[in-house]
Amino acid sequence: MTGPAAAGTAPRKPYVTPYAEESLDLPLAFEWADGTPRLTYRDALPQERMFGTLWARCGTAREGKIQWHLVHTQRQRRCMLKRLCRVCGGPATDPDTGRVWWIVPASLAGDFRSPWPTAHPPTCKAHMAEALTACPYLRREAPIVCTVGDYSPVGVLANLYGEDDGGRVVETRHQIPVGLEESHLLHRALATQLIVRIEDLQPAQG
Ligand SMILES: [Zn+2]
Repeated sequence: MTGPAAAGTAPRKPYVTPYAEESLDLPLAFEWADGTPRLTYRDALPQERMFGTLWARCGTAREGKIQWHLVHTQRQRRCMLKRLCRVCGGPATDPDTGRVWWIVPASLAGDFRSPWPTAHPPTCKAHMAEALTACPYLRREAPIVCTVGDYSPVGVLANLYGEDDGGRVVETRHQIPVGLEESHLLHRALATQLIVRIEDLQPAQG
């Protein structure tokens, strides 16, 4: 979600969109793990590492100015792992069919059989219209409402870090996709979004 709701409707507080007060300092550092330098926090908690990489730390207050252009890392990952709606955070799986409701770019039309990687979480059936109206990204992509039979994590969107000559931790790459098998990159990555590969994509009926 990257824009306010349509005129005449109260803007919903979208689930995957962060708020200003959820932005936290990131005390990044490198440590040695299995003979390799690895990105960590100076006060890292075990749950801040998943899929072999460190994840961006963020607050959960949902207070302050809505940051429409950003994505809340933990809520985006939760949506992907638990098949939840990007708008409301509720289940995006259709109880009748077991399929997951998803908005996909029209560019996929005609190629529904190919597995498709995406960092955009599902949208529940009830919030399809709201998501299509409110989100400039989705409007730009001329989206199609679909359902997905299955999907699985394949990578992360991440910033990569290294150390400069003075030993300071510095960002070297910004928002690049990194596959879950690329352990040499995951060691110095700060993951911000989970990428999944969706399969068995079908246009919604009606
Ligand atoms: Zn929803």
